[in-house]
Amino acid sequence: MVRLISQLVGVRLAGAAAKPAPLGTYVLSREWVLLETEREEFRARVSVAQLKNPIPSLPSEGPSFEWKIPMPPRKLVREEVTPILGAVNSFGNRGQLEAMVNLLWDGYAWLLELPEQFITAGSVQSYGGLPEGAVIQIHSHGRMQPFWSTTDNADEMGFLIYCVVGGLGTSNTKMLCRVGINGFWHDLEEKHVFAG
Ligand SMILES: [Zn+2]
Repeated sequence: MVRLISQLVGVRLAGAAAKPAPLGTYVLSREWVLLETEREEFRARVSVAQLKNPIPSLPSEGPSFEWKIPMPPRKLVREEVTPILGAVNSFGNRGQLEAMVNLLWDGYAWLLELPEQFITAGSVQSYGGLPEGAVIQIHSHGRMQPFWSTTDNADEMGFLIYCVVGGLGTSNTKMLCRVGINGFWHDLEEKHVFAG
């Protein structure tokens, strides 16, 4: 059993190399315990815990994120994602319905998918699993400014990039993004997720 687990989850010291493990590799750095893993589209390292007692002999590796494929164009957000989330938002009586879209990479191009979903003013749940090739999941918070709600934290447990859009229907539409690994996240600047 121990052997099986050790094959699925790796451990390494910061600065040292390790073979990728199927369920990720824990990295012990000077100040952090990090979890790193990669998929065909990107590699990421998120912080799991800050050490109470730093280990001065270790390099200070931190959270990171890197695309392995062409970045999705910001145009896709501007011309498809935001208008679709905004349109669904406006179905509600008071302009307050959440919605979700997925951005898929098919090996050649970025595509938008609107999954079958159950929407309310305070939540959105898609039916079924993620479609093949889903890399980024984006949901809306209606007119409210975007933030990571406790519902989002409970829902966003996969190895994906998550974004939340807020301020829909206002002149101040904003988006936050983060990469998640098994319920640990690293905030990403929009310019590191989308190109252009
Ligand atoms: Zn949310």
